[in-house]
Amino acid sequence: MANNKISKKDVHKLLSQWSKEFIVFVPSKENGVATLARWDGKDTSFLDWYRNTVIPPKANFLPQVEEMFRFQKDKAGYHIELPASDEYKPLIFGIRPCDANALAILDMTFKDTHEDPYYLPKRNNTVLIGLGCTSPYDSCFCTSLGLSPAESADVDLMLTDIGDEFLIEEVTETGKALVTQTSGLEEATEPDNAQAKEVKAVAYRKVTRRIDTGDIDKKLLSCFENEDYWEKVAAKCISCGICTLLCPTCYCFDISDELVKQQGTRFRCWDSCGFPTYTKMPMENPREEKWRRVRQKLCHKYEFYPMNFGVIACTGCGRCIRLCPVNWDITQTLDSLPAKV
Ligand code: SF4
Ligand code: SF4
Repeated sequence: MANNKISKKDVHKLLSQWSKEFIVFVPSKENGVATLARWDGKDTSFLDWYRNTVIPPKANFLPQVEEMFRFQKDKAGYHIELPASDEYKPLIFGIRPCDANALAILDMTFKDTHEDPYYLPKRNNTVLIGLGCTSPYDSCFCTSLGLSPAESADVDLMLTDIGDEFLIEEVTETGKALVTQTSGLEEATEPDNAQAKEVKAVAYRKVTRRIDTGDIDKKLLSCFENEDYWEKVAAKCISCGICTLLCPTCYCFDISDELVKQQGTRFRCWDSCGFPTYTKMPMENPREEKWRRVRQKLCHKYEFYPMNFGVIACTGCGRCIRLCPVNWDITQTLDSLPAKV
């Protein structure tokens, strides 16, 4: 299959064209925080970014706060009103390979295990256009998780920066169909393909932070009861929850009702296993001590998710390292596990 390419100065035209059929989302800043927001029809300065956003794309599918339904009480009982279903088709332009993989990991919970009626329609309707990272953060360690900063099997089209142009590779049938109906693309040449290959190889080598994931689930299992170790590991954590709320593969949510007189709304909103109240129950709290919560965060990603789904629920995106206020570093902890297999 021949690849295509587009000049960087024509990306605006490309997005305008796609905007006729899709609601286009691009990396953008909202209140100074990088997220994937609706394209304003003008700005393409995100093309100069070469890294992932602060708010992960999970927010586009599992919003931080989401209305589940409204309810009303009268003499006959409760009446439930479901939110109107979204008919629009979103297209996310510029998703990074690690974040696209995070969506594939979330699918295992929200699609394969349980068909979530809020997540699924958004996920099934969305086209993903990947953009390779050419200069990853030093906190990125995606290559240790079998990923690559400039390649992805989890998007519909994959773009690689080859200088004044982007090489466009078709990854899925959806991507192929989109290319067919898109005008203004040019067929890539052999030198273009060779250059893209080199860009990907260079980007791969730039990810220098590495962890050894071999037998990591077994190592975690064997040190699970080592309270001294976990206390040491958890010592500086302040339980702010940032590392989980902004992790692209964390999906815990809380449900609450807002009630005014006889009318109410049920919401779900992001929650974190790092919060002391997360497992609070009337009789006890099985994770009252901080070290138990830090252990849970790690084991869920590197031991329990592999046990249930056969994959590690971490993409090495590095957000939890970059955004932690006390510099807690997941890679240091994983590297220092005292366990023997
Ligand atoms: S971001 Fe850092 S301080 Fe906050 S909960 Fe995570 S590890 Fe603890
Ligand atoms: S655990 Fe950290 S590095 Fe792994 S996916 Fe979550 S935020 Fe990214």
